[in-house]
Amino acid sequence: MLSPASLSVDLDALAKNFHTLEGLTGRPVQPVVKADAYGLGAEACVTRLMEAGARTFFVARLVEGLALREAMGSTPVIYVLDGCTEGAAMALRDADLRPVINHGEQLARWQEAGGGASGLHIDTGMNRLGFRPEQAPAAFPGLELVISHLACADEPDSPMNRQQRDTFAAVRGRYPGIAASFANSGGCFLGPDFVFDAVRPGISLWGGGPEGRPDPHIRPVATFSAPILQVRPVPVGESVGYARGKVADQPLTVATVGAGYADGVMRATSPKGQVFVAGQLRPILGRISMDALAVDVTGLDVVEGDRVELFGPNRPIDDAARDTGTIAYELLTSVGSRVDRSYTG
Ligand SMILES: *Cc1c(COP(=O)(O)O)cnc(C)c1O
Repeated sequence: MLSPASLSVDLDALAKNFHTLEGLTGRPVQPVVKADAYGLGAEACVTRLMEAGARTFFVARLVEGLALREAMGSTPVIYVLDGCTEGAAMALRDADLRPVINHGEQLARWQEAGGGASGLHIDTGMNRLGFRPEQAPAAFPGLELVISHLACADEPDSPMNRQQRDTFAAVRGRYPGIAASFANSGGCFLGPDFVFDAVRPGISLWGGGPEGRPDPHIRPVATFSAPILQVRPVPVGESVGYARGKVADQPLTVATVGAGYADGVMRATSPKGQVFVAGQLRPILGRISMDALAVDVTGLDVVEGDRVELFGPNRPIDDAARDTGTIAYELLTSVGSRVDRSYTG
């Protein structure tokens, strides 16, 4: 039977990336597994990461934390980055989830509910979540981890990185004995000043380079592939796909591939997009439709059922993202729900 568009996750490569980041930073790696492990499947990935030695994980939402607790049992420590949102305190406590407290109302809610193990987010310049340094609360019972987040970690030359780092170093001094977590994937590569007590990478565990381009330290983890459904000659002057998106100016052989925007191949990947097929990178032709896309396979020996790689070891996800005008994070988290996830390693 033809297997449809699929996302294959190499769990050995994931474990290797985990150990690479451990070796690079010399710190405990506490993976960020929000958005179902960036679309790769949190349960399978967290299981493998725990085998590799991970104990502490971050999710964004309460519901993600509840699902992870349910799947993984009581062993992992799970922080919820949204924090103690309205109405969440009891659910957090019952599931032994640790809110990362972002503002005064969250702290009040958490403490009213009885408090417990939790984190504290200090905003050192991103202006997204967390207390401004001058408004950060004194250490409170249950506080186990102080975090902040870099706005420009994928640009090592940005002066913002050092500014945020210095602000964080000063503010964490007000929490003696409390562990400090600062570096995301990019931060892990910024040097020893940036690693503090534990690191908090996401994308580079999942195979994205820390600077938004392929990095020799990081192995590809996810392979997004889809089958050729039909191969057809297209004579000069005829067009391919919606809106005559491509008009043949020479005789073409076109493969129609069973992956479209409903599978997470963004429309914006046309006209620059490429796929890896029969040992070569070949251009996507015309518009991406909901369930299909067209590839120029002129001169290649391909047949129905052959697979095309949209990203993976032969088509780095950072390159695919660049040609789509986005970042690896968005490609990974956009892979559609009808795409089968499978695991190797
Ligand atoms: C998503 C996220 C991370 C992980 O960032 P990567 O760039 O994927 O390594 C770390 N910390 C916070 C607060 C985040 O929101």
